This record gives sequence, structure tokens and C-alpha cells, in this order.
Amino acid sequence: MSSTKYIFVTGGVTSSLGKGIISASLAKLLQARGYSVTIQKLDPYINVDPGTLNPYEHGECYVTDDGAETDLDLGHYERFLNVFTSQANNVTTGKIYQSVINKERRGDYLGKTVQVIPHITDEIKRRILLLGSKHKFDVVITEIGGTVGDIESLPYIEAVRQLKWELGSNNTLYIHLTLVPFLSASAELKTKPTQHSVKELLENGIQPDILVLRTEHELSDDIRKKVALFCNVDRDAVVQSIDVSTIYEVPIKMQEEKLDVTALRKLKLDNKVAPELGPWKDFLSKHKHPKHSIKIGLVGKYVELPDAYKSINEAFVHAGAVNECKVDIEYIHSENLEEGNPEEQLKGLKGILIAPGFGDRGIEGKILAAKYARENNIPFLGICLGLQCAVIEFARNVLKMEKAHSTEMFHKTPHPVIDLMEEQKGITEKGGTMRLGAYACHIKKNTNAHRAYKTTEIQERHRHRYEFNSKYIDDFKNAGMSAVGINPDNSLVEIMEIPKHKWFVGVQFHPEYRSTVINPHPLFVDFIKATIS
Ligand code: GLN
Repeated sequence: MSSTKYIFVTGGVTSSLGKGIISASLAKLLQARGYSVTIQKLDPYINVDPGTLNPYEHGECYVTDDGAETDLDLGHYERFLNVFTSQANNVTTGKIYQSVINKERRGDYLGKTVQVIPHITDEIKRRILLLGSKHKFDVVITEIGGTVGDIESLPYIEAVRQLKWELGSNNTLYIHLTLVPFLSASAELKTKPTQHSVKELLENGIQPDILVLRTEHELSDDIRKKVALFCNVDRDAVVQSIDVSTIYEVPIKMQEEKLDVTALRKLKLDNKVAPELGPWKDFLSKHKHPKHSIKIGLVGKYVELPDAYKSINEAFVHAGAVNECKVDIEYIHSENLEEGNPEEQLKGLKGILIAPGFGDRGIEGKILAAKYARENNIPFLGICLGLQCAVIEFARNVLKMEKAHSTEMFHKTPHPVIDLMEEQKGITEKGGTMRLGAYACHIKKNTNAHRAYKTTEIQERHRHRYEFNSKYIDDFKNAGMSAVGINPDNSLVEIMEIPKHKWFVGVQFHPEYRSTVINPHPLFVDFIKATIS
């Protein structure tokens, strides 16, 4: 019998209630009491991973150290817990069916009819239990994506129903998150949607142990009592989750509501050690009471949906707090820079970040933004495609290679300063085939990168197919842009800088994925520092 405890988090009434933040907050509180905790996200869509989804559909695609392209909620888990996640932390219906169908083709089920129950549900259970058995966590929190009642999440609900039966009620806990809407016409908070949502769960054989109620207004004792009575949960198992100004306050709110104490009691776990939240609270207080304020331009093509750049936004929050600085992000659509007057749109910014991206829509706008930052000595951070744009700009305007480009956008450019990586040539499948995950980088001393990291050997996460064409490395260096970070195994250029500039850094990797509350990313920290100095 496993000694790991399993908490299952479902959502009802509407999507986007913040199950990921509630899961991460509870995990934080348990971790702060000394338990080892991880969080897993089960996504009911049929894509094998979100790598092939448009960021407009699903927000950012988050990348783990071991190279999984995952749901952005995994970013929250890492930012809250400061513990890396892996392939096993994000499971999709696509992945489940893929492995069941592979087994069927191999003949593992010979003679049997392969069905949703038991074959799909067994595979779901196997993926949930794997985290506990293989990695020996004390607690695994599994968040089920979607909303209860969706056809596509039914196999997941059935799988976790079976797990309680198999593991016993002391080892499993169901938390259901719902919404208590406020009707302004009658000035009332309404509990009926919660009751219906719990009824829906009950129809699927699950009685929630704890209800977390999202609300814009304080819930009275009467409302809590009513929900407890009609939904058949303990009085202290009705937890209010009121809107707050920052997601990082949610663990504190959940602590006030004793969500951790109730969960531990129901799982028969010791709650004697008080949570150690000192560093978290220090961060929160700096974040909420900044001494400076600066405006940074984030140039990208998915700016209508800030979730498309989730990790970058959060990395600015972490780095801002270290610098006691409020970072106002101005989202700038790269296509607008192409049409209007870029000087007009970029003036007044204290720093410019060019975001990662794919394809040629808006690319010239990004190149214009890199030129503006370089010529006006404005602190600049280019991430992945952002670095590539800075390179193209430098080639065109400083090295006078007018038609320089990346072969991603202009296959026949006479100056392919950014070119397809050797290992990518011949790859035609799109899913999971980029250069993904953590790779090593050696940093030269006396550079901005070295001053930030304070070490010469780093590991950072990647998600790309194209690279700086090292044929041009000397031309760039002689003209004032140097490769200061190199992969020691394959000599791929990882970091470019302009030493004469105030702070101009382009990175082929994604520093934003590794920034957490407790470990703000050094490049973001120094970027902000450069903007306020
Ligand atoms: N499209 C570029 C490449 O594949 C950049 C990718 C990115 O910004 N993540 O190399």
C-alpha cells in the first residue's frame, strides 16, 4: 500500500476559476510544513501536448527541464513550490489514448475489447500513481482540467472515483472548486450553482470532502452553513476564496481559511509543524509596497492575450520585488510597429523585451524594436526569437547585410544569420520535435550575463529550431556584438551581448521558465536593475 496521499481537485460551474492557483497554494502550505508535494495537471483535450496549440487558444506553452511541452499551470506549480516538474506532471487525453492504442497494436490486450472503462481509466490511474510511487512524494495533488459535467472529463472523474475505493478514504481527498456569483440587482450571493455542481459530481460517484468557493464578496456564516448542509460537507470544509490583487496572496488567504489544516486532518496527516512562510511573506510585502515604478515594453504578436506570455509576466513580478520596483508591462503589438511610427510607440519605455515566437507575422516590427533599443541605449532583453531579431537587426544595420534574415522567414536570404539547426534538418513532424528542455551553457566572464548569474556554468530551458549561424561570429564580434554564452557540447551560441550598450542581452533559451518566487531569475533581476539605474 502506498504511503503517498492523493488530493484530487475538480472545478464546477465555470472554467477559469483558478484551480491551478488553488492547487499550487495548498501545495505551498503543505510544503511549508515540511511535506514533499508535487502537482499534476490532467488535461482532457486530445492534443498529445499543448506544443501544437496556438497560444491564443491555450496561453503559453510551458517547458520543463526534461523537455516536456506542457500546460501553463505547471509554471504556477514551479513558481509557487520552487521544485521542478517533469513529463509526468502533465497528462492529456491524447497521451492516454496514444499509450493505450500503442499497447493494443503491440498485442498487449490480445483477445480483449479495448474500452474507456477499464483500459483508459486504468491508464489514467497508472499515470496518477506513478508520481507517488516513483518519486516518493508525501502528497500528490492532481488537478483535473475542464469543468465537471464536460463529456471529455468523465473518464478522469471515473478514474479518481476508483482511486478512493482502491487507496482508502484516509489516503485520498476530493476538493471541488466552484463559483458563488453575486447578483447585483438583488445584492445577493447565490449558492445554487454550487449545489448543482456538487450534484453533478455525486451523479458520478464522488462526494467532495472540501469545497472552495470563489467569490467577489465575503461569504457570511449563514451562506457557509447552507452550502455545508446542502452539499454534505463539514462546516469547516467550506472554504472561501475571495478575489485578491495578486495570485501570490492566495496561499496566505488559504491559510487564513485553514484549507491546509482541514486537508491534513482528513488525510490523517500531522499538522503540528507550523508553516514556514517567512520568505514568501517578505516577497509579498516587497511586491505590494514598491519604491520605484518603471515601464517595460513587451513586444510580441500574441499581446491581446497576456496568458500567452505568462512566465515572462511572472518573472517580472519576481524580479520587480527583488528590486522593490513595480514593473508596468506595456504590451506592444509587433505588427503595429510596422504600420505606425515605432519611435512614437516606443518612447518613454525604460526597457524593451522582445518575446519568443514563430513565423513571420510581425517580425519586421520586432526588428524595428531591437534597432530602437540598440540605438537609444535602452536596456534590452531578447528571448529566443527576440535574440534572433536582435541579430538580424545588427546584421542589416551595422554589418550592412541588407537582406540578412532567419531562414525561418526568408529561406533564400543571402545572409542567413539565423539558420536551422543541423539536428533539425529532415524533421517534418511538428509535435515535440524542437530542441526542448535544459541544456548547458558556458558564460564568458566580464559580461552582463556573468554579472547576473555570478557563475560561468548554467543550465537553461529551450524551445526552438533555429540558431545563430556561427559562420558570422567574428563579423559580429568585430562590429560590437559578441557571443558570450556557448553550449560546451555543440558550440551553439546561447547568449549575445553588445558590450558598449547599457545592458543589451539576447538569449536563445527561455530564462522565464525557471524564475520562481524564491529564486527570481538573475537575468530578469539585472534587466530591471539596469532600467532603474
Ligand atoms: N521560431 C524560432 C525558432 O524556432 C524561435 C522560437 C522561440 O522563440 N521559442 O528557433
